[in-house]
Amino acid sequence: MTVSVTGATGFIGRKLVQRLRTDNHSIRVLTRSKSKAEQIFPAKDFPGIVIAEESEWKNCVQGSTAVVNLAGLPISTRWSPEVKKEIKDSRIRVTSKVVDLINNSPADARPTVLVSATAVGYYGTSETGVFDENSPSGKDYLAEVCREWEGTALKANKDVRVALIRIGVVLGKDGGALAMMIPFFQMFAGGPLGSGQQWFSWIHVDDLVNLIYEALTNPSYKGVINGTAPNPVRLGEMCQQLGSVLSRPSWLPVPDFALKALLGEGATVVLEGQKVLPVRAKELGFEFKYKYVKDALRAIMQ
Ligand code: NDP
Repeated sequence: MTVSVTGATGFIGRKLVQRLRTDNHSIRVLTRSKSKAEQIFPAKDFPGIVIAEESEWKNCVQGSTAVVNLAGLPISTRWSPEVKKEIKDSRIRVTSKVVDLINNSPADARPTVLVSATAVGYYGTSETGVFDENSPSGKDYLAEVCREWEGTALKANKDVRVALIRIGVVLGKDGGALAMMIPFFQMFAGGPLGSGQQWFSWIHVDDLVNLIYEALTNPSYKGVINGTAPNPVRLGEMCQQLGSVLSRPSWLPVPDFALKALLGEGATVVLEGQKVLPVRAKELGFEFKYKYVKDALRAIMQ
């Protein structure tokens, strides 16, 4: 396969590129910054990789077998009005561009698959609800972002198979939520954020990369697929397990007001969660390597 990837330079994208390379697929990195991407994917380690800035994306998308769309401004920063706007606009802008390039490709050079990221934020937040792919969307800001993000991807030509992966909190050593939490625990200052009762629908990064890979190669993967492990936990339990794996106590709760002071409205991402189950992935026969958070954390910290 020849696969064009937006957001390839990010936490998930880097792992996906490594996986595609291991299986000898051709990779086209669609980035905003060639110099940054060339540092992440040096030619000596990634022979044949194509790195393209926006003006060159058209030539990459045309002739690709598939496109994976992972780009977007990280949400784990303080949400000023400008940041909030860019969280949404960055996702819609890149998705829209990619979809236009796919749709405007000559039929014989058009990618046949689009795997596009979205997030479990689609469902809104709840301490009591349980969500699967058929659950309705929430009413908050992130739910609105996800709805528009998904709607934009679904504008791809009807001949293109679109898989929308509603991603949960991705666990891995080199980025995402865990990379932010581990230093606190290592300084003996780790503990539950907020009440600890909020749901934490997680997935190990290797499982997510395998799910995206399956979506690229298996024609049954179509429409919305939750990218979450089968056993979500409450955040309090996640922190306890992390403390145990790191042999550090998990005793210092971080109160709501401190998180709100740090992250503003963005604190809702960690203070409120949702319990999301991977019903479609199970129906499709996807095998999770990491079903329990303790095993995922152990593997990551090894
Ligand atoms: P990262 O933040 O690590 O990487 C995202 C990439 O998007 C960057 O490498 C960058 O690529 C591009 N990007 C960043 N800011 C902008 C911007 N303002 N405009 C356009 N492009 C931008 O993300 P992850 O790898 O963690 O996540 C990938 C996708 O999955 C994201 O869309 C994210 O929302 C979604 N997701 C991730 C979760 C997680 O826990 N990690 C959970 C749920 C959803 P470049 O500089 O090369 O252009």
